[in-house]
Formats: sequence, C-alpha cells, structure tokens
Amino acid sequence: MAKQDFFIHTKKQFEEIAEDLNLIPSVFRKLEKPDKLIEFKIPVKMDNGKIRKFNAYRCQHNNTLGPYKGGIRYYPCVTREEVEALAILMTWKCSLVGLPFGGAKGGIEINPLELSVRELEELSRGYVKKIFSWIGPEKDIPAPDINTNSQIMAWMVDEYIKKYKRQNIKYKKSEIELLGAFTGKPVNLWGLEGREEATGYGGAVILKALSKKLNLNPKNTTLAIQGFGNVGYYFAENAYKQGYKILAISEDYGGIRVNKGLNPKETLECKKKKGKIISCYCIGNICNLGFGNEITNEEVLEADVDILVPAAVEEVINKNNACKIRAKYIIEMANGPITPEAENILENRGIKIIPDILANAGGVIASYFEWLQSQQKIKWKRVKVLQGLSKILEKSFDEVWNLAEEKKTCYRKASLILAVRRVVEKMNNLS
Ligand code: NAD
Repeated sequence: MAKQDFFIHTKKQFEEIAEDLNLIPSVFRKLEKPDKLIEFKIPVKMDNGKIRKFNAYRCQHNNTLGPYKGGIRYYPCVTREEVEALAILMTWKCSLVGLPFGGAKGGIEINPLELSVRELEELSRGYVKKIFSWIGPEKDIPAPDINTNSQIMAWMVDEYIKKYKRQNIKYKKSEIELLGAFTGKPVNLWGLEGREEATGYGGAVILKALSKKLNLNPKNTTLAIQGFGNVGYYFAENAYKQGYKILAISEDYGGIRVNKGLNPKETLECKKKKGKIISCYCIGNICNLGFGNEITNEEVLEADVDILVPAAVEEVINKNNACKIRAKYIIEMANGPITPEAENILENRGIKIIPDILANAGGVIASYFEWLQSQQKIKWKRVKVLQGLSKILEKSFDEVWNLAEEKKTCYRKASLILAVRRVVEKMNNLS
C-alpha cells in the first residue's frame, strides 16, 4: 500500500465510524481532515561545506481534547500523507486511553545514519526553528518516533527554549515548564524515568491482559517480533520476563529464529558488540542450526507462532503475505502495520488483531506523565510511571474488549468507536 493509500484508508476508517455514530456534517468535516499541515525544507550545511535541503512535515490533526501530541520520525521515504494519517491515529489513540491531548505527527525525509552527529544536530535544531510558533507545552508537544531519540529531543527542546527566550513574551514561563514542549527527553532534562521502555512495556501489559482473557499460559505461548528497536526490544524483554517464548525477531535486513526461545537482553548485548542480531547466531551464511538460524523478514512475519508482533514500520502485512500469516493473534506495536486488504483476509481467516491505537499507547501515556512533571514541577519515579500506565492500559483494554463483545465487532472498530465518541462528546460540550 502506498503512503497515499494509508492516508485514504485512515480517513475511510473514520468515515465508517462516523456513519456508525451518526455524526452531524459539521462535526464530520472538522474531524475528517487535519487542522494544519506544515510542509517545509530544512537547510543543513553538510560537513563537505555544501548546503543540503531536507523535506520536513508537521501535521496537527485535532486539539479538542488538549494540545496536539505526536512523534517526529526521521525516515528516508516519509511523506506528507504518511504524517497526516499518523496524526489522525494519534488523535484517536490519545482519546482512547483518556489523555487530555489531541493528535499530531512530524517527519523528516532522511536516513539519519547518512549524517554526522553535527549534521544531525543542525537538522534537528533546524526543524524546531521552522515550526517554533506552532509548538509549545500548551500547543503541540513533539516526541521521538522512528530513528529519533532522547538526544534529538534534547537538541530540539534546547532550540525551542533559546528561541522562546529571544521572543519578547510578556508572561514568561519557567524553564521547567518550557521543557514540557517536548517529551522523550533525557531524564536529566526533566525527561521521565521509564519513558524509553514505556511503549514496549505497555505492549506487554496488553499481551498479559489478552492472555488472561484467552486463558493462555505464557510458557506455552510463542511469539515472533518484527523490529528490534525501541518498541520491539522492550516489548520482547517484558514478554520474556513474563515467561513467553520468543521464537523469532528481526530488523530491517533480516532476523533470527531460535527454536528453544531467545533471550532479548542477551541478544541486544550481543548486537551491540557485533552490530547485527543475525551475527549473534550466524557467522556469514553458516548458522548453528542447533541453536538459531538466520531468517528473512518475511519468514519472521510468517512464523508458526501463537502471537505475531509487528513492531517496525507500516504496511508490512499486506495482500501479498496475509494468506501466509500463521499466528492466531497479532498485536500491532508499530503504527499501521496491516493494510485494509490484509485485514479483511486475516479476519476471514479468524486471526484477531489488537490495534495500534491500543497496543502501543504506553508511549504517549508516559509522555503525558512527562508533560505533567513539567507542569507540576514534580518528578515521577519509574515504578509510579509503569504502574500508572499499566492501570490506564488495562482499563482501556477492558473497555475495548467489552465493546467488541457487545457489538460483535473487531477490536479495531471497538477502539475507534470509543475514541471518536470521546472527541465528539467533548466537541459537543464545548459548542
Ligand atoms: P526504532 O527506530 O527504534 O526501531 C525500528 C526497528 O524496525 C529497527 O529494529 C529497524 O531495524 C526495524 N525496521 C525498520 N524498517 C524496517 C522494515 N522495512 N522491515 C522490518 N524492520 C524494519 O523505532 P521504534 O521507536 O521502535 O518504532 C517502531 C514502530 O513503533 C513505529 O511504527 C513507530 O511509529 C511505533 N511507535 C513507537 C513509539 C515509541 O515510543 N518509540 C510509540 C508508539 C508507536
């Protein structure tokens, strides 16, 4: 599915829910498209002295529930349509888990590995210079996403504060409040203990809740996880701690399968030494089959496991491979990993999907706690963060499960009904 299709599909999903909820035309029109789409170029002086311009975007979908909120991804083929679709999903995600935030998303068309650290810093600061007037702790609060991390947030928030201080603003905010303009920052910059692991941890909370409903015993339940970045790794680590057996994991260039089950922490440590996870179980093309072997990304998705966890990028499960998926359940830790055609095929085959707006909401819940810290000037401890997000996710999971049972519908539709309904109720209260 092209990125354009991802956007069209996200809108179509909303249209279906709007019909279900019988939305009046003015409300429908307000929610069907983003409030604002900022598209711009960021000039960066490269180390060779030449100026290179990078395409960048920030999309703000809706702020009925509170300030716009959403990550910034650095990715070679990021598009306007992609960030628009992701911004819409952020509105539904924040609403579903009851946060006082709206939805936004940003992106820069770049493979960050091509840049030196200095170039990366200039690019990140350049992004903030361009969107400064549209962001802030009460307006729009960016966060990390694919290929962005706490260091990038630190550069960005520093640039934001510098620019803010240069403005002649009558009622100045304290530095701590201004730090609330970004989340996913380093802990020493009023970042949140536990934020880095929050999305993956939250996914494992959902995995546990699902297993409880289905009476699955973790020891007899197998997983395959695509993506071994922030989300994939922490999901794997927390699932492993709960006793699940992880048979396969992958990164963009391929993965590994370990029939006796693999230990995510050891694999990460090995990856840090050897560069790639496949190097941890194979040498060149020779793999120790008794222990683990190299497999392709497709083979990870098609593995004979109970639960499949796409935790990398969009659209990896599509009409070409939906018939080959062997898992009984899919937990969408990535945003939009299943195309609509694939979803139809999977549903007809009885494969159940826990949707992205529920499964990966742990990250934005933690971001909300981080933002609260700056507002209230009180730091949270990791235990409180993880307990707090577990409570919210368990409640949201139950709400989705119960509505799906009541309406005899899938978990995605139940999630969207709850999410859109909350935004509409608030719009009605405000009007
Ligand atoms: P990341 O950059 O830390 O890791 C991405 C992983 O995906 C890497 O292991 C990479 O090798 C792999 N990958 C990249 N392209 C791939 C491809 N074409 N096929 C297979 N694997 C590929 O990113 P992340 O923060 O872990 O985000 C992963 C997904 O989770 C994204 O869809 C993101 O939008 C979503 N998400 C992230 C957060 C968060 O807090 N980081 C929150 C909610 C949702």
